Amino acid sequence: VAASEFDLIRRYFADATGTRADVALGVGDDCALLDVPAGQSLAVSMDSLVAGRHFLPADCPEGVGHKALAVNLSDLAAMGAHPAWTLLSLTLPQADEAWVEAFMQGFSRLANAFGVQLVGGDTTRGPLSITVQVSGFVDAPTALRRSGARPGDRLFVSGTLGDAALALRLRQAADVPAELAERLDRPMPRVALGRLLRGHADAAIDISDGLLADLHHVCEASGVGARVELNKLPLSGPVQAACRTGDWQLPLSGGDDYELLFSVPPTDAAELQQLCARAQQPVREIGEFTAGQGIVLIHPDGRETEGAPHGFDHFR
Ligand SMILES: [Mg+2]
Repeated sequence: VAASEFDLIRRYFADATGTRADVALGVGDDCALLDVPAGQSLAVSMDSLVAGRHFLPADCPEGVGHKALAVNLSDLAAMGAHPAWTLLSLTLPQADEAWVEAFMQGFSRLANAFGVQLVGGDTTRGPLSITVQVSGFVDAPTALRRSGARPGDRLFVSGTLGDAALALRLRQAADVPAELAERLDRPMPRVALGRLLRGHADAAIDISDGLLADLHHVCEASGVGARVELNKLPLSGPVQAACRTGDWQLPLSGGDDYELLFSVPPTDAAELQQLCARAQQPVREIGEFTAGQGIVLIHPDGRETEGAPHGFDHFR
């Protein structure tokens, strides 16, 4: 592949997104020059999607572009940060302009929806993979950390759990209902909810590896345990049907939900629920944090079992 072909692709980066006033210099020089607002901290995060592991080379490139940015924005949401800038590194087997154009469509549409500007990028030749870095702003003392949960805090999650995992399971055998496919291919990061939770939630995380795995991260960081009531889990109809057989794997360990999990002091729980209702943010209390360690699952029949974190671990 001639270098000029990659130069061509690089052009897709230049005008991909809108312009922000805090970008003194965007795509095209050795570095971007960016102005962080006074009194704010920069919240930064990075994620890679590798073909064959996180998506398939034949997957719709527009959806891959959306998801590559969405999973990063979800991390900003989990900190209560306001998204601002992004960097994109594409490794491509060949300079496939049609693929890049569609990929950038999905990427840019989501970036523009959140006022995020692409301020730099890189393209190299190699096995298909995508790395996205995002930056946002947050007043550091109000940032939502994993380490703040306290015994007695109420445990909340947003949205519904297990939809993406069910879509992935169905895709291997049959057509997937559109709403489920959307949850897998085009997750919407809970940025507005994350902003709203600042000053109310003690701790937060986004659910990427599965409810139990990510709850386990919060418990470890906070030095607490948790109790989860399975019949309180927010489930869509199709996932509810799958759980009726007693198989709770989809909502507990499915992953790819990109919902927020957070802890709220019991005295604030009612007020927060009202705030979320007014902001049309679907949240549900599913349990509580406890002194000690470990996750206890309370089954619909009252039976209690240990909730081992079976999240997806790339190195297991
Ligand atoms: Mg995360």
